Amino acid sequence: MTPTFRQTVRGMRDFLPEEARRLRFIEQAARETARLYGYEEIITPVIEHYELLAAKIGEENRRRMYVFEDMGGRRVALRPEFTASIARVVATKLQSAPKPLRLFSVGSLYRYDEPQFGRYREFWQANFELFGSSMPEADAETIFLTESFLKRIGLRSYWFKVGHVGVLRGIFEHEGIDEETQNSIMQRLDKKETEDALRIIEESSPSKACLEAVKGLLGTSGRDSAKIVARMREIVKGYPKAIEAVENLDEILGLLKTGGVEAEIRLEAGFARGLEYYTGMIHEVYVPEMEIAVGGGGRYDKLVEVFGGGSTPAVGVAMGMDRLSIALEKQGATAVSGPPMRLLVIPVERSMLGEAFKVASMLREEGFSAEIETMGRSVTRALSDADRRGIAFTVIIGPKEIAEGKVVLRDMARREQITVKLDELPERLRG
Ligand code: AMP
Repeated sequence: MTPTFRQTVRGMRDFLPEEARRLRFIEQAARETARLYGYEEIITPVIEHYELLAAKIGEENRRRMYVFEDMGGRRVALRPEFTASIARVVATKLQSAPKPLRLFSVGSLYRYDEPQFGRYREFWQANFELFGSSMPEADAETIFLTESFLKRIGLRSYWFKVGHVGVLRGIFEHEGIDEETQNSIMQRLDKKETEDALRIIEESSPSKACLEAVKGLLGTSGRDSAKIVARMREIVKGYPKAIEAVENLDEILGLLKTGGVEAEIRLEAGFARGLEYYTGMIHEVYVPEMEIAVGGGGRYDKLVEVFGGGSTPAVGVAMGMDRLSIALEKQGATAVSGPPMRLLVIPVERSMLGEAFKVASMLREEGFSAEIETMGRSVTRALSDADRRGIAFTVIIGPKEIAEGKVVLRDMARREQITVKLDELPERLRG
C-alpha cells in the first residue's frame, strides 16, 4: 500500500473512540455553558472568502491559512478562527437583532502551524462572543463564563493572563505611529520578540518618553492587580488614551474581584495577542502543566464595522478543545464520561435472530445501548467476546424462553445468569 493510504496528512489527526469521547465531552460542557449564560449557537461554513478571513487576523496567522481557488475561480480559505465569520453574520444578517447578542460556535479550525505538542493543523474550539456592549461587565462576563466552563469539565487548576491592548496602542497612537506599524509591533510582542518590537518602535522615531513607557510596561506584570495597575497609571501618565485603557482594565478587574472569580489573575501590562482586531482587554488561560495557552480572547470593537456593519462593540473568548483535552488528562480529571453501559443480545441459533432484533429494539427504546451478535458466533464464543470487549450484560434469546415471554440475562462480571420476563428486563437492568 502506498504511504498516502496509511497515514493522515501531516498535522491532521484521527480521533479514536476514547479521544473522540473526550472531545465531545468538552463540547457538551461548552454547549451547556452557552445555555446557562444565554449564548445561542450559530453554525458558519468552514470555507469562507479569503479576504474576510485575512482582513484582521494578523500577519502570522494570515501566512498560515489554507488558501485555494475553488472550481468557480473564487479565492477561498479554510477558517483559521470563528470570530471573522461570526462578525460577518452580525454585520449582515443580525444587524438589527436586539443587543446584547450572545453567540456560541463550536467546530474545527485550520492553520498551517508547525505540528508539535498541543499544536495541530486541524484543531477544535468552543467560541463565545458578546456583541453590542462596550461596558466592562461584558468583558468580565467572558472571564466568568470561561471559569465556569473550565470547572464544568473538571479542570482543577488554571490561571488567567490579562492585559489591555489599548494601553500600548494608546501610546503608539499618541506618538503618531500608524496602524500597520502598530500591528507589526504587537505581532512581535505576541511572539516574545521584544528586541524586534523595540527596534520597530525606534525606527518610527518616537519620543524618549514613549520608549521609556513601553519598556516600563513590558517589565510590569504580577499577581497583585492593585499594585500593577498603580504602576501602569504611573507609566502612561502623558498618554490620555492609554490612561483610559488602564482605567477600563481596572474596572474589569474590580468586577472580577467583587463577582468572585476564583482563579488567579496575572496582570501583564505589555501583553499582546497575534490577532489584529483586539481593541481592549485581552486574556489567555493557562494550566500549570502546559506552557501553551488553552484559551484566549478579548475585546474587538471595530471588526463588525470592517465587515460593513454599524458600530458594534464586541468581546469574545475561544477555548482550545484539543489542549483542554490534554490538560484534563494531565490533571487526571475524573469528570470525563466513560463509555455507556453496553449490552449484547445473543440468539442461541440463527432462527432466533428476528426475536433478538425485537429484544434489542425494545432495550434501545428503554434507553440502553444494545448491540446484537452479528458475527454468527456460538453463544459460548459470543460470551467470551463480550467479556473481552467490556460488555456489562448479555441477553440470551432461546426458543424455549421466548415461547414463555422470557430471556436469559447474564451478568458478565459476576458470571451469573437468571431467566427473566421480557417486560421485567429493563427494570432488572436498572438494578
Ligand atoms: P487564538 O484563536 O489564536 O486566540 O487561539 C485560541 C485557542 O485556540 C488557543 O489558546 C489554543 O488553545 C487554541 N489553538 C490555537 N491554535 C491552535 C493549534 N494550532 N492547535 C491546537 N490548538 C490551537
